[in-house]
Formats: sequence, C-alpha cells, structure tokens
Amino acid sequence: MKVNLSGPDIGSEEIVLVSKVLNSGILSIGPVVDEFEDKFKDYFGVKHAIAVNSGTSGLHLLVKALGIGEGDEVITSPFSFVASVNCFLFERAVPVFVDIDEKTLNMDIARIEEKITEKTRAIVAVDIFGQPMNMERVMAIAEKYNLKVIEDSCEAIGSEYKGIKAGTMADGAVFAFYPNKQLTTGEGGMIITDDDKTAELCRSMRSQGRAVTGLWLYHERPGYNYRMSEVNAAIGLAQMKKIDEIIRKRQGVAELYKQKLAGIEGIILPYIDQNVSKMSWFVYVIRLADYINRAQVMSYLIERGVACKPYFTPIHLQPYMRKQFGFQEGGFPLTESVSRFTLALPFWNRITEEEIDYTVSVLQEAVMIAGRGGT
Ligand SMILES: *Cc1c(COP(=O)(O)O)cnc(C)c1O
Repeated sequence: MKVNLSGPDIGSEEIVLVSKVLNSGILSIGPVVDEFEDKFKDYFGVKHAIAVNSGTSGLHLLVKALGIGEGDEVITSPFSFVASVNCFLFERAVPVFVDIDEKTLNMDIARIEEKITEKTRAIVAVDIFGQPMNMERVMAIAEKYNLKVIEDSCEAIGSEYKGIKAGTMADGAVFAFYPNKQLTTGEGGMIITDDDKTAELCRSMRSQGRAVTGLWLYHERPGYNYRMSEVNAAIGLAQMKKIDEIIRKRQGVAELYKQKLAGIEGIILPYIDQNVSKMSWFVYVIRLADYINRAQVMSYLIERGVACKPYFTPIHLQPYMRKQFGFQEGGFPLTESVSRFTLALPFWNRITEEEIDYTVSVLQEAVMIAGRGGT
C-alpha cells in the first residue's frame, strides 16, 4: 500500500467554476477574485480581504504596509516555515526569535517581553500546524510597547481560540493556499485586516503600486505583481463554499489517529490547548520519545510506502540564517529538541480509514524497532 502525505480535495464544484472562468475570457483582474475576497470578509467578519498569489506575498505586503523596514527588530518563532521570517528579511528587518512552548509548539508568549528593545517594531505570531495563538495576550503586549502585529495564520484557516477566529485580532493576517493547506487554490494567499489604510496599501502594492481607484497606468508607489488569477480564485471560491465540511473532515481524521495511536509507547500525540474552541488541522504531527531514532522510523515508513516529513527544521539553523545572523545550535533549546523528534503523518481530507490503519501499524513496528536501537 502507498499512502501519500497530503492531497487536495477537488470535486466537481471546482471544475465547474474553473471551466466558467476559462469560458468567460477573463483570466485575471475579474469578478471571481472579488467574490472570493467577499467570502473571506463574510466568514471572518472583517472589513477587508485581499487575495494574492501566495501566502509569502501576502505576508510581504503586510510587512511593507505596516512600515516594517531596515534595522527594525521583529519578534517571531524559530519553529515555523521559513516564509514567516523571509517576509521581513526582504525589507532588511532583523529576526528576534522567542523559543516555543513545548506543548503547543507556538511561540512562548510569556517570553516575548524579555526580547523587546527600543528597536522592536513588530511581532509575527505564527499559528503553527493550525493551533491558534492566544492573540488577546499577544495584542496586550503589542499595545503596551506600541508594536505592530502580523498573524501568520497560513496554517490555521478557521481555527478559534476562545471563540475568536485566528487572524481577526492582529493588524493584519494571512492565509495560504498551497495544495497541502486545508483550502487550496493551487498557489495563493489571502490577507485580512480591519484597517482601511493597511488594506489600501496592500491592494495597491499587489498590483504594481497602482492607485486603488484611478487610472490604469498611474502608479502611486513602487509595487509588485502579487495578484491572484481568476483561475486560482475559482478553485478557492469552490473550496471556500465547503470550508466547514473540510475542517470537519480533517477533525475526523485527527480523531481517528488519536484513537488508533493512543497507548503506543514512544509516541506523543499533538497537544491542543483547552482554550482552542475550534481546531482546523493543517497537518498531523506526532513526537517520538527521545530514545527513538527518527531517521530510522522515517526510512522504515518510506520503504513501506508511508510518506512522512520531519516538520519543521528550526529556522535559525537554516544555512542562510546561520550565515547572515550567526545563529548556532543551542540558541533555542526547546525548538531544537522538539524538532529532532517531530514527524508529520499522512493527513488530508480524503485519506481512508484503511490508509490510517496501515500507517498506524507500520509506525508501531517502526517505533518498536527503532526504540530497541534498531536491528
Ligand atoms: C504555507 C505557509 C506560508 C505561506 O506559504 P506560501 O507557499 O507562500 O503560500 C507562510 N507561513 C507558514 C507558517 C506556512 O505554513
């Protein structure tokens, strides 16, 4: 049996809407992007939604719109996908990492304040693996020190902390739609914000710095081409119409894993904070006990057709980060120790119970063998 790590959930609705776009003759700058954005405004109850061509583009636009620039310090988590840091490195801002909470794997909010200096300008709060941060606490710190907050909710569409949707409290937030995300457009992203000025700047810079209302070849500022095409928006619109169903299906898969993995020695299940009132699962990441050789578990799984990935490798230890900022091993011990033992299992909407059973049984064998020192 072969079990993939992830897979998009594309149905007839997506195909119908994409065909409509292709038949319409309008492939970019058209009504479907507007409709997709409106769906986000409704779902999140926010004033503005701006579709872009990737999550990274969305984060970059927010960094620019919020005025984060050269030499500014930005506080964020080293346990994330590199885009949550790259978005401000583009503007020559400087990363200041805060180690994670060992249970939720999100940045440890209690340790943010000790990292604040007079150069601190912003916080990029990442909702890792779909687990939303306690944004009330993050925003309280930001208010006290007059900092901007970007919520990287790229992995957390629809998640809620104490009933508050991820992405709705920060100065701006971004969702991403690469095919392994809960909702996909192929490639794409969405910025949400309640602030008119931030939204206007993002809209303008998304499209070459054009005035939002104005002449076609009238450019108010330098900008980019970060637009989402109508084709991608059509996929997203169809997906957004069934977002609740998508989240429910993934909750079902997570529940099955939880039941079937329970009690297997050497496997630590994902921890979800009790204040998380709704969990939108991005990936299912287990942790292996520290006496188990992860590399050996991974090759055992892969040899038997079960895909898996070591999510995530600490950002500060990536070669380019070490080179530019001199980070070294030992800098963020919790991030480093956790990331040596995490393992993402096959996880997507349409995974079958048979595939989950197979994954669990192969994993159980792998853990037994690798835990004994391997033979
Ligand atoms: C997916 C993701 C992004 C954005 O990725 P793109 O590939 O640019 O859409 C940003 N941050 C995190 C944490 C992500 O998981």
